[in-house]
Amino acid sequence: MNVDNTCPQRGNRYKTKEESHTAFLNAKRTYANKKWICNTCGFKINRSNKTQHLRSKKHLENEKRREECLTCSSDSCSSESVSE
Ligand SMILES: [Zn+2]
Repeated sequence: MNVDNTCPQRGNRYKTKEESHTAFLNAKRTYANKKWICNTCGFKINRSNKTQHLRSKKHLENEKRREECLTCSSDSCSSESVSE
């Protein structure tokens, strides 16, 4: 049996390879251009950079800082009970 790549029953939406490739790129670009906001950093970044951002040092530092007690984030808290 001869399997044809351009089998009409599969419904080739695009006439040419280039056309389908362009459509693919457009869809990709549309997705990538959607903004994503990092709650930790308050950054608005491209969705395509999200994974990269989540692994970035800056984000990890912000995340760490966020976990610290907000009430005690002023230096007055840690200073007094240290000596003696
Ligand atoms: Zn972040």
